[in-house]
Amino acid sequence: GSLHVLVERSGETANLAGTLDIKGEARPFQAEVNKLMHLIINSLYSKKEIFLRELISNAADALDKVRLHSLTNPNLGSELELTIKIRADKPARLLHIVDTGIGMSESELHNNLGQIAHSGTAEFLKTLKAEDSKNLIGQFGVGFYSAFLVSDKVTVKSKSATDDQYLWVSNSSSYVVARDEAGPFVRGTTVTLHIKNDSVSFLEQEKLEKLIKTYSQFIDYPIYLYKVEE
Ligand code: ADP
Ligand code: MG
Repeated sequence: GSLHVLVERSGETANLAGTLDIKGEARPFQAEVNKLMHLIINSLYSKKEIFLRELISNAADALDKVRLHSLTNPNLGSELELTIKIRADKPARLLHIVDTGIGMSESELHNNLGQIAHSGTAEFLKTLKAEDSKNLIGQFGVGFYSAFLVSDKVTVKSKSATDDQYLWVSNSSSYVVARDEAGPFVRGTTVTLHIKNDSVSFLEQEKLEKLIKTYSQFIDYPIYLYKVEE
């Protein structure tokens, strides 16, 4: 993979704004998710930056799925470039990670981001002893919930080929899913991090460039980082 810095022209990222908050029924996380989040927060507070590795790797996985499916299903929208785009919005204290991957339907948002979908992860949690967690958990792919290392709220906007566009919003204690009425509607997923007070350094251009360069080595797709002209 490679990092490309995109100087932002006005209007180009208008679709990143959209809806970031929703009202709806607050759903509890599966108990194992609460456990995992607790473990992540307690073991990785000094390695917060891994959240970006995890979100980039999820974006790349979602792009892999499009690439695979488009071999057998030409309707999947192959005209859409397979990319990962990252944009920091310092004044609003937001970090957007945008992919044109496979996206998630409403039920996939519940199944993938409300519980631990992989039995391997659940097994790992069971066998992990508290005293080992600090050493082991950094090597283990801790996944999506590491977003809460640097965020007090996370919004996920997602559009798959099989469903309308949906929003998932969480403050880490519970989550809400609702249909996105506003659009624009583009295949893929936008993860928006509402960055915590103590983590605003992750909105700095230099720091993002450095981290993305490191992580992009293992990624098959171009990663674009917006640079806002000040
Ligand atoms: P893992 O990547 O090991 O499966 P994660 O916690 O990182 O675990 O992600 C959980 C699941 O959420 C993924 O398996 C995937 O189904 C879904 N997911 C997360 N991010 C995305 C994304 N950007 N696009 C599509 N699906 C995603
Ligand atoms: Mg992952």
